Amino acid sequence: MDLLNIVKEAGVIGAGGAGFPTHAKLTSKAEYILLNGAECEPLLRVDQQLMEMFPDQIIKGMEAAGKYVEARKAIIGIKGKHKKVIVLMRERIAALGLSNYMEVMELRDIYPAGDEQVLVHELTQRIVPEVSIPLKVGCVVINSETALNIWNALEGKPVTETYITVAGDIPQRLTLKVPVGTAIRDVIAQCGVKNLDDYAVIDGGPMMGSVMNNIDGYVTKKSKGYVLLKKDHFLIRKKTVSLERARVIGKTACEQCRMCTDLCPRYLLGHNMQPHKVMRALSYNLEDVKEQQIAQLCCECNACELYSCPVNLHPRSVNSLYKQKLAEQGIKYQPVQMDFQARSSREYRLIPSKRLIIKIGLTAFDKPAPLTQVEFRPKTIRIALRQHIGAAAIPTVAVGEKVKAGQLIGKIPDGSLGATVHASCNGTVKEIKDNSILIKVGS
Ligand code: SF4
Ligand code: SF4
Repeated sequence: MDLLNIVKEAGVIGAGGAGFPTHAKLTSKAEYILLNGAECEPLLRVDQQLMEMFPDQIIKGMEAAGKYVEARKAIIGIKGKHKKVIVLMRERIAALGLSNYMEVMELRDIYPAGDEQVLVHELTQRIVPEVSIPLKVGCVVINSETALNIWNALEGKPVTETYITVAGDIPQRLTLKVPVGTAIRDVIAQCGVKNLDDYAVIDGGPMMGSVMNNIDGYVTKKSKGYVLLKKDHFLIRKKTVSLERARVIGKTACEQCRMCTDLCPRYLLGHNMQPHKVMRALSYNLEDVKEQQIAQLCCECNACELYSCPVNLHPRSVNSLYKQKLAEQGIKYQPVQMDFQARSSREYRLIPSKRLIIKIGLTAFDKPAPLTQVEFRPKTIRIALRQHIGAAAIPTVAVGEKVKAGQLIGKIPDGSLGATVHASCNGTVKEIKDNSILIKVGS
């Protein structure tokens, strides 16, 4: 079987982010394969530790993917502040005889260095056109955990576990290997907080993650972090403002200073994303949403909302509001150009991560979250059939059937983009409903 089919059968998807099926990325040819080791979300500590623990596997997984897409060069992007990891990865690349093919490049400690389009520019100086993907400029991007999962797939192991950082205002910050389908509550319980009543939990990083309405869900392949903060923390208050309230405040208080635009990472790459214009449309009651198509150029990095705006408004949320309206009307942004140049001011307007962390009130919690061995013994696991972009997987098992860890339990529907799913523990299928499979754990 070739790599594409091995990766497809193993259910590898982009670990973190939207969960794009990795096999679909392998269908094209590219000039570069890039490894996104930026991990630019404050407090999350997965990628750097995985590279430290599994350097050879990550390098070989990336090499396999790179050779498959016929990339002439493989570049690993790691923030310069992670010196130890950089030295280690360089040593291992040399030891594996890959120095002519693969190199490590140091990334600046800026936010959002891990945004695919920012990463492509930082590593290759190319700019992905508006509403396009890195492949358009000859790049395929994967992250560290995905490269590790590609290596595991080559070793015959499907994706049944994921790495998660539990961080925030808690006594024990740690990073864990967790079986897919484990209850989020069991993962959070490792943080040392006995009573969660005063806490809110962000699913993912503090910048792009959203506050969970309840923590009764289950871990998926793309779960990357849970950040626990007190309910009255600035970030929680800001993130729980309703779209309607964001709209009303923005309408009355935006002073059109355009700081949100001047510091927007996509605008700085030369794209036409100008959140102050979307805010202006809101202020002037411009109901013609067709005129606000630029809202679709927003990558939702939240820099404007949590860092740039001097009066604490919600330009990202307002973009989301317009995006929703545009989607309802079936309107899609039509780019007018394909060649872009970074704005000359970009170099002076990058957002330093340290300042961002101060601004969002996380300095006190910006501490290590060491990878810690914890044995999860869930009584049940619930595995979602749609943990990825594309169609939900179709169950290949029935209620009452015994399954083994690593067994295929959901396949990709014919002719669809999707990903397979596998049991993460031995057990018996108890229920198949709501696009998920409940397994009672036990042999
Ligand atoms: S930064 Fe804030 S006040 Fe300034 S234009 Fe943007 S939303 Fe309005
Ligand atoms: S969230 Fe704000 S800063 Fe980020 S891309 Fe969208 S408009 Fe730009």
